[in-house]
Amino acid sequence: MADPDVDVCVVGAGITGIYQLYRAREAGFSTMVLEAGSGVGGTWFWNRYPGARFDSESYTYGYLFSRELFEEWKWSEHFAGQPEIERYLNHVVDRFDLRGSIRFDSRVVEAVWDDESATWLVTTSDGATTRTRYLVAATGVLSVPFFPDVPGREDFRGLQLHTGLWPAEPVDLANKRVAVIGTGSSGVQVVPAILDEVASLAVYQRRPNWCTPLNNSPITPEQQATLRADFESIRATLNTSVSGFLHPVGERGFADDTDDVRREFYEQLWQLPGFGKLISNYYDVTFNMDANTSWCAFMAGKIRELVHDPDIADQLIPDDHRYGEHRPPFVTGYFEAFNDPKVSLVNLRRTPMLRLTETGIETAEGVRDFDVIVWATGFDFGTGALARMGIRGRDGVALNDHWADGPSTYLGIQTAGFPNFFFPGGPHAAAGNNPRYNGDQVDFVMELIVAARDRGAATIEVTTDAEDLWTSKIDKAARQPPSFGESSYYFGANVPGKPRKYLLNAAGRPKLLELIARSRANDYHPFLLSSK
Ligand code: NAP
Repeated sequence: MADPDVDVCVVGAGITGIYQLYRAREAGFSTMVLEAGSGVGGTWFWNRYPGARFDSESYTYGYLFSRELFEEWKWSEHFAGQPEIERYLNHVVDRFDLRGSIRFDSRVVEAVWDDESATWLVTTSDGATTRTRYLVAATGVLSVPFFPDVPGREDFRGLQLHTGLWPAEPVDLANKRVAVIGTGSSGVQVVPAILDEVASLAVYQRRPNWCTPLNNSPITPEQQATLRADFESIRATLNTSVSGFLHPVGERGFADDTDDVRREFYEQLWQLPGFGKLISNYYDVTFNMDANTSWCAFMAGKIRELVHDPDIADQLIPDDHRYGEHRPPFVTGYFEAFNDPKVSLVNLRRTPMLRLTETGIETAEGVRDFDVIVWATGFDFGTGALARMGIRGRDGVALNDHWADGPSTYLGIQTAGFPNFFFPGGPHAAAGNNPRYNGDQVDFVMELIVAARDRGAATIEVTTDAEDLWTSKIDKAARQPPSFGESSYYFGANVPGKPRKYLLNAAGRPKLLELIARSRANDYHPFLLSSK
């Protein structure tokens, strides 16, 4: 019978994988991480496009497992940029001596369960194999870049870049004619960041999003001191809050205020950093249509103030979805960029994109020539990475077949028929600040593996009944009126042909924590820990 090379094989050295590695090593397991990139960081390794930065507060996104780490790392800004984030993750890996367990440039192409030995055989693109008792895919939800199927993409003779695959070497955009396609969180960060450099910038927009100011600022020495002094209470809040943020949850409802008070309140919200505009808003802003419409009208007014040309302003205001229905982007100078004569807006709903040519992009209005095209067109969200890993569970069943109608999971941690396989931070994981939700899952995965070791169990596997119940519960919750998000990547709607199934945890963190606690109290039911 084949013996495993390692106890725990983690796929991906992003924020979740690094934490899983740390926890597994701490628990005394032999561990290996297989990472497709040449460095650590995952999302924050690949998304190194100009302007890439957190829109969660830096200290709420970083790790909380070590007070020393929290105290010694001084984030320079409330919302750190990608280079600083990458430095942080490298620091963590070196500080806790984790780098030696990571094999870089190793993309997993196949992972097959062997019932006889109760192990996984994992193969990477270089042909190397690793046999592991437990396989943890920390491959993230936003890790497979999506390129729309626009005819002629291979004909364009200029440079094409995707925000999610940005090269490590500097890209010279000086005096270049640049097109940015897509106006999600990535596109709206790129636009103002490259504006000064480029000769011209055309923004190809299909649907605008409800963008609000990030309101970033440096962290002052006084704030640094307060953060350190408040570590325990910050950690306690972040470990328990529904959203995984520090922003206080709005306590007033829309109907509690008069129009005048609302206006003043919205002005205050507009000045808040990041997700404060959503979390500290009226508690009913996402499900009371009057509240949502009122807040949207306020934001539309702001956009009209910021953008000088009223026709452009109108086109930048969403008219097909409510606030919160798509993931709201946060911006620094995005709307103002449209006041620069170098910048133009191409409204793809008025003039659809037809094809790429050798020299540029052709729409219904003709061809515009470019030197560089930036695809800010998003990701195969949720299941993209897992679908590309050649995963086969019991009886050779492919994960892609098991999930042909979309993912089914229990707590976004396991799926039936795939013993000893976990995917924290994957489909059905987050519904707020990702590292906090993913961290809850990592901790519980580790707890299960330790419990199996303690009782000499060879396999951990969730029951089909539990999986069906959880999956239908979150599907139902996600489709409750006003059924937010059905036109967004939350449901896989951005990738043609992908099953429309909710890909986040619609039940939220309290339910996740409640069911974890219940499982712990019930001998880990509905996970079966068996000798085989
Ligand atoms: P995204 O939100 O999926 O946006 C993709 C954009 O590409 C959309 O504007 C979409 O338009 C457009 N698009 C797709 N296909 C197109 C086509 N055929 N023609 C023209 N436009 C097309 O992707 P993203 O901006 O990369 O952001 C993804 C997620 O990553 C975010 O929601 C966020 O969770 C995360 N992110 C976070 C940060 C941060 O923390 N600071 C920064 C960047 C990204 P439609 O809307 O019309 O489909």
